[in-house]
Amino acid sequence: MSTRVNGIGMTSQRTRMRMIERLREQGIKDEAVLAAMFEVPRHLFVDEALASRAYDDVSLPINFNQTISQPYIVARMTEVLRAGDHPLNRVLEIGTGCGYQAAVLAQVAKEVYTVERIRLLYERAKKLLSDLKMRNVGVRYADGSAGFPEAAPFDGIVMTAAAPVLSAVLREQLAVGGRMVLPVGIQEQWLYLVERDARGFRETKLEPVKFVPLLTGKT
Ligand code: SAH
Repeated sequence: MSTRVNGIGMTSQRTRMRMIERLREQGIKDEAVLAAMFEVPRHLFVDEALASRAYDDVSLPINFNQTISQPYIVARMTEVLRAGDHPLNRVLEIGTGCGYQAAVLAQVAKEVYTVERIRLLYERAKKLLSDLKMRNVGVRYADGSAGFPEAAPFDGIVMTAAAPVLSAVLREQLAVGGRMVLPVGIQEQWLYLVERDARGFRETKLEPVKFVPLLTGKT
């Protein structure tokens, strides 16, 4: 573990710095997000055989037909979440996958809850996040399509799998001043921002994206 954590060659500090420079070129401006992306050792979240590509701007397979999102999209969703005036005390992620987005969120939020429906991914992410001493992340094995009402309200919600329509159930779990970022659509997917204020909800369509589908039930 420790040799992988330190990282030499392809996973060196310089490789990570190149990723940060690329994120800047792609339009990511929030310094706290760039610092979080630099901090989290992305190569530990992918299979060892793929570690040399971990800092490239690509999504990579993490088994069970799932993928780790490309760095740009992780940074972008985190930046959109942080762009409000409201502090991110409690954040929910639906779709833990390998746990990478949760680890990035953990750098910018006080508490992160993340939910995964595939048991083996849940177990692996839970162990890795605990090995990395990310004590402010709670990993849960559940179908997250209806959110996590027991821990609501959230200052931020991120969904990393695409639902065919914007869920009304999820936005009810936002605190006033809270923000939700999620992909919506089947063939053609768009990233949406949902903001809640004292008067209600506001939706903004952001940019085209490509995520795996949100599924129901546990496996
Ligand atoms: N955030 C992840 C991306 C993982 S891909 C990362 O940083 O790597 C999306 C994940 O959403 C998959 O692991 C998939 O199993 C999970 N998922 C899909 N539908 C879900 C649901 N209803 N509840 C919880 N997780 C779900």
